[in-house]
Amino acid sequence: MTGPYLIAGNWKMNGLNSSLAVLEETARSCEHLNEEVDVVVFPPATLLAVSSILLKDTRVQLGGQDCSSEVSGAFTGEISASMLKDAGAKFVILGHSERRQRHAESDDLVRRKAIQAVQEGLKAVICIGEIAQEKADGKTLAAVSDQILYSVPRTSAVDQIVIAYEPKWAIGTGVTPTLDEIAVVHKHIRVELLAHWGESGRGIRILYGGSVKPSNATEILAISEVGGLLVGGASLDAKQFSAICEHG
Ligand code: PEP
Repeated sequence: MTGPYLIAGNWKMNGLNSSLAVLEETARSCEHLNEEVDVVVFPPATLLAVSSILLKDTRVQLGGQDCSSEVSGAFTGEISASMLKDAGAKFVILGHSERRQRHAESDDLVRRKAIQAVQEGLKAVICIGEIAQEKADGKTLAAVSDQILYSVPRTSAVDQIVIAYEPKWAIGTGVTPTLDEIAVVHKHIRVELLAHWGESGRGIRILYGGSVKPSNATEILAISEVGGLLVGGASLDAKQFSAICEHG
């Protein structure tokens, strides 16, 4: 696909007010990036509003790590898409494997969350990817096909949907698929997107995520159909994250 790479940093459940210096350093280091790279950081929800002030007029955009499938009301502890937007988010991660596994989030719930996000004008970064057993059983492509079918809403707003292919076994492990494996899965995802959306499915960006570091970012970004990276651990270190962004 054409257009800038999207490099996304997921802080997960890390980050206090004292961590805002990392965001400032990231923004400073990203100032000189060329137009071919878009950068978004997903701090915890508690830091969104203050981060939004801090990042005003910088190259770094903000996102939330999850949102509710409901609009508003008696849903204690949940955060709506409109609240994320109000706090300065432009993106939201949905269906991360940690939420699918630890919080038993189903494809259908992820799809309903994505509908809310898109309705609020947020870009939904919908995570898909096989678990280790599915890989061992040769079911990687079937697993991602199912997740695309059931967790990605058939919205016409394709520019508000981003797919992140994140094999569960590669997240936080230091182990990545081979470049060929990444290429095969990304090509398969594109074929599925074209099958469901027709030609407009070409406009949906597909990120790779799972143990991305400055040392492997260039070769992964060079793979056809890889439109960016979702970075976990390395995004907590401004030097590593901005080094990854420079590969874009
Ligand atoms: C993630 O949490 O989405 C992720 C890709 O983590 P890591 O880069 O640490 O593997």
